[in-house]
Amino acid sequence: MAMNRIQFQPGLSMPAFLKLYGTDAQCAVALEQARWPVGFHCPRCDGAAYTRVRGRTHPLFQCQACRHQTSLIAGTVMQGTKLPLSVWFLAIYLISQAKTGLSALALMRQLGVSYPTA
Ligand SMILES: [Zn+2]
Repeated sequence: MAMNRIQFQPGLSMPAFLKLYGTDAQCAVALEQARWPVGFHCPRCDGAAYTRVRGRTHPLFQCQACRHQTSLIAGTVMQGTKLPLSVWFLAIYLISQAKTGLSALALMRQLGVSYPTA
């Protein structure tokens, strides 16, 4: 019987996903590389020099030229949330892997978050 190449295309297993994006630090690095593939650029003045502001839920970058502060999650679906990046990434993984969709209730149970968060 012929194999459907779409159905049998390689994917990312849960263990492989957790190895790549299991921690907040791994997710922050991945998100930073996705947002600024050639390095940080200030959204206000396009400056490339920045300082990392620590002690925040999500990484914050301050432009050294105009002092504008940009969160790593600003302008993304994650903007304004305090949910750890690793939980966000896991949610995105679970939704992308669910062939027939994923209900908010199922997501709530799997992530251990509240219903409104899910
Ligand atoms: Zn700037």
